Amino acid sequence: MRAILTYHSIDSSGSPISMSQDAFARQVAWLAKGRVRVTTVDDLLQLPDDVDAAAVTFDDGFRNFAEIAAPLLAEHGLPSTVFVVSDHAGGTNTWGGVPDPGVPTLPLLGWDELARLRERGVTLGAHTRRHCSLPTLTGDALTDEICGAASVIETHTGAPPVGFAYPYGRVSDAASAIVERAYAWGCTTELRVLRGAEARARIPRLDMYYFRDSGWLERWGTARFNYYVKLRAQARHVRQRLAS
Ligand SMILES: [Zn+2]
Repeated sequence: MRAILTYHSIDSSGSPISMSQDAFARQVAWLAKGRVRVTTVDDLLQLPDDVDAAAVTFDDGFRNFAEIAAPLLAEHGLPSTVFVVSDHAGGTNTWGGVPDPGVPTLPLLGWDELARLRERGVTLGAHTRRHCSLPTLTGDALTDEICGAASVIETHTGAPPVGFAYPYGRVSDAASAIVERAYAWGCTTELRVLRGAEARARIPRLDMYYFRDSGWLERWGTARFNYYVKLRAQARHVRQRLAS
């Protein structure tokens, strides 16, 4: 079984984008045991389904990635990818200038920190320029959010981002067509494990928020694990339908 794991912020607020340092350290300790191979996203996409492997990704580029997550991952030699919101680097996650009442406002990594992380082997990906909901955009504005982010990241860190993640997991056909041309792959928030050759601009992931309680990640590959992922995905579809 192969899966891409999604994290955002390592903090103690309990918000939907947060995981506590203790829970994260416990998951890293399990990942480091070798039950699953931890690879980059690039490598994960090349592996067959019968290999137990995971890639670790972080959306938004919170400073607590450098302070808490990166040292823990480096201690065990585990690779990871950080998706950067290019026009917010060094700022905060107040997307559109408005704080989200459901999540804490936190500092984001600046360019010097991002360049240093890349030198130490962290993969940088793009997460648009301003964390826009892409289905609301068309034409030049859409292209600018997706391709502009790559130019800004390359200018500031010396290398183009490897992959892309859609803000809020919201995808349109127009957005995924641009991502397919501009990036090696694009990650959604569709909650499931990888199955065979995925459409490379619409790669599913597992949000680790649902696995923050002890024991769930550790059930990797079992029937109970798969049933739990299915239930969570169904519950999320219902919530999204009610919200739209
Ligand atoms: Zn995001």
